[in-house]
Amino acid sequence: MPTELFADVAVRAHIFNHPEAIYTYVVPPALRPPLQPGMLVWVPLRRKRVQGIVLALREQARPAAGGDEPGLLPSFTIRPIADLGDPEVRLPDAQLNLARWLAGYYRAPLWDALALFLPPGIAQESVATWHILPAGREAELGALPPGERELLYFLRRKGEASEVELDEALRGSMAELRRLALALAERGLIARRTALTRPAVRVRRRRVARLLLSAEHQPDALAAIRHAPRQRAALETLLARRATTPADDLLLPAGDLPLATLRALEARGWLALEAVEALRNPLDGSTVERDMPPELTERQARELHPISGALERREHEIFLLHGVTGSGKTELYLRSIARVLRQGRQALVLVPEIALTAQLVRRFAARFGPAVAILHSELSLGERYDTWRRLRRGEARIVVGSRSTVFAPLPELGLVIVDEEHDGSYKHADGVRYEARDVAVHLGALTRSAVILGSATPSLESYQAALDGRYRLLELPERVTPRRGSGSQSIPLPPVRMVDMRDELRAGNRSLFSRALQHALSRTLAAGQQAILFLNRRGLASIVLCRDCGYVASCVRCSSPLVLHSVQHTASAVAEAAPSPFDTIMRCHTCGYRELPPIQCPECWSMRIRHFGVGTQRVVEEMAALFPEARVLRWDRDVTGRKGSHDRLLDAFTNHEADVVVGTQMIAKGLDLPLVTLVGIVSADIGLHLPDFRAAERTFQLLAQVAGRAGRRDIGGQVVLQTYIPDHYALQAAAAHDYRAFFQEEIAFRREAHYPPFGQLARLVTSSTSMARARASAEELACRIDVEIGAQGVADASVIGPASAFLERVRNRYRWHLLVRAPDVHPILAALGPLPGWIVDVDPVSML
Ligand code: ADP
Ligand code: ZN
Ligand code: ZN
Repeated sequence: MPTELFADVAVRAHIFNHPEAIYTYVVPPALRPPLQPGMLVWVPLRRKRVQGIVLALREQARPAAGGDEPGLLPSFTIRPIADLGDPEVRLPDAQLNLARWLAGYYRAPLWDALALFLPPGIAQESVATWHILPAGREAELGALPPGERELLYFLRRKGEASEVELDEALRGSMAELRRLALALAERGLIARRTALTRPAVRVRRRRVARLLLSAEHQPDALAAIRHAPRQRAALETLLARRATTPADDLLLPAGDLPLATLRALEARGWLALEAVEALRNPLDGSTVERDMPPELTERQARELHPISGALERREHEIFLLHGVTGSGKTELYLRSIARVLRQGRQALVLVPEIALTAQLVRRFAARFGPAVAILHSELSLGERYDTWRRLRRGEARIVVGSRSTVFAPLPELGLVIVDEEHDGSYKHADGVRYEARDVAVHLGALTRSAVILGSATPSLESYQAALDGRYRLLELPERVTPRRGSGSQSIPLPPVRMVDMRDELRAGNRSLFSRALQHALSRTLAAGQQAILFLNRRGLASIVLCRDCGYVASCVRCSSPLVLHSVQHTASAVAEAAPSPFDTIMRCHTCGYRELPPIQCPECWSMRIRHFGVGTQRVVEEMAALFPEARVLRWDRDVTGRKGSHDRLLDAFTNHEADVVVGTQMIAKGLDLPLVTLVGIVSADIGLHLPDFRAAERTFQLLAQVAGRAGRRDIGGQVVLQTYIPDHYALQAAAAHDYRAFFQEEIAFRREAHYPPFGQLARLVTSSTSMARARASAEELACRIDVEIGAQGVADASVIGPASAFLERVRNRYRWHLLVRAPDVHPILAALGPLPGWIVDVDPVSML
């Protein structure tokens, strides 16, 4: 008699105070052979059936550790696992370990972390439904009390409905509904059962025919059906298909032929119909010409060498590839991938934005053909599900995708690449608030893969790690010029001309465009070349700025820029509306300080102190006024919301259907636009005035990238950068294309302020329909944390805030937040225990 087998299962249920939600179940004999850790199962939990992931199998039930976790209590009867879930799911140990790390590090329920690794669309829930019984169909409605009467009438028409559907249809309280339903059940008129929601995706099948007719019988067969034209046509089509199909593949596509006709042929014994799985591939149908790898430049070859070494030895090593835009980083990715493929391993490539994916994917497909798969949120659920399975089975060897692709199943992973590693979009903004770049580094360690983080403007965290020797720094300081035959030669980065907008005003120019920019625009247009006009505008910063001296109102306590609000708490977003001191107030969203806006500039006594904000729309209008003949394209979130619109805009601009594109962050990223010779940075400053310690870093990164858009071919290019604060180190470094200079200034500030990478932050956000309540709970928590920091005796730790959040009212709820800053925030957060009603964001990226 074999001993009993037990399984620890992480279940899909949110049990407050028990975020782990790991329970022990008995493995029934029928499931013993197939069951493995990492598999998806159905288990009973209270009166429901829920999904779970098997974490471990053991021959003994876990000993009661004296804790109060329900699964550990010996008095609990241990129930058996009910069934297996999707048989394709079997998370390898590396993914189970990564999920545990995610749950611990980002303080999320374990199931939520595990669910990130599941194929898209398979989450299912059991829901309670009520259905009509035969007696219920006959019952006299009039004899029932009013509430019950309506419920029964509804179920007679619907047959069966979930409690949620009933609630929507009948608009009672849930408790009242249950009472009515139980009363009807007692009368024997209706009954309850639990059912499963349908999974959102299914395997798609394709009809195929296997021809059983031998060549010598064909003429007879065709003669036999000469009076059945439809059968004859179908058979002829299939015979023609067989003639062009390789001999070893006898399954002929038949989905386009009428089913009744095929059935008739099947009845004659001439063919057999089958259904095979059809995998949806988002790259199908796109034809990409294969490219020939160029010969590497000497520098590229030198920087590739250590990567090749790590791959050859199958060692985990992290490389930071710092190379200016156009220096040939992508070519090094391609070479590294080629090597890992030759070893029979797989590669994972993360890219920040959908806008980037299309161009990059084309380059990958040109090199590797159908081995490449893509994953991103614009694909249909079915496409994502099938891509997931192609990767799981090893049919696709390379996957390129946005942040969640880091959870894709890659059983033979050998190389992880994070392109534009500094990009803020790698941070996931709800649920498990992971940073995909950091997850990728962990994944690399767990799978012994090489990791390449690539950027022209590395994050402070990564560059410091390289200086500390935790990452290996590889550098490509020069651009590469593709030149047929003659090898390659470098084009310099474009010169940047900085324009002080205060001088423009003094000279009487009130336009958004400086004289230098207007000049450059007219020359570019006259030469038939293209220009990009860029606005550095993250969020809806409403700052108070002096248009004569560039003074920006900032907090006297913590020097964060102050944000203007109208007293009714509705953010007045009217560009450049003069603030009246009587109905507006300035607030610090870091520490909570508030002040009335000035009427005159405290620095230069100018009256032209304004609420400042410029949108793409205004730039487009100004363009039309100054250059009516220019064709202008607008590119921002408002116009790229729809599926595929990035590609269309990009195509239109590359095909020279427009002369000028006006846009925000999105156009800064990775696009290779050969005809662009002018980049105008209309407002370089606005992003600097956000209440966010990364404001300078983000501004530098954006400006460096957008400047890199100009002159990528030998026709040259130039950049005009307009600012009110030409002395700011982030702008100076961007204008000089000098990453090191920026890094040196910025890292000193971070060290002094104990900000990352020298300290860690956690942001805690609460919200309430009542401003007073949100504020009170924020203040209470801040006190608790202060006490905890004292009790643990942590040096260099503090609470910043609480304050109302920058986006202070969202969906009618007031938001308050605070920051915990410490060398390691985890012991402090752990001591606080679960925080109901709070969002905990470890390593926050957005402070808004
Ligand atoms: P990055 O990723 O750093 O922006 P890319 O890899 O896209 O740089 O290279 C910039 C351009 O130079 C691309 O058009 C690429 O095809 C080309 N290129 C890269 N390496 C070479 C090389 N060794 N020889 C010729 N052309 C190259
Ligand atoms: Zn001033
Ligand atoms: Zn402040």
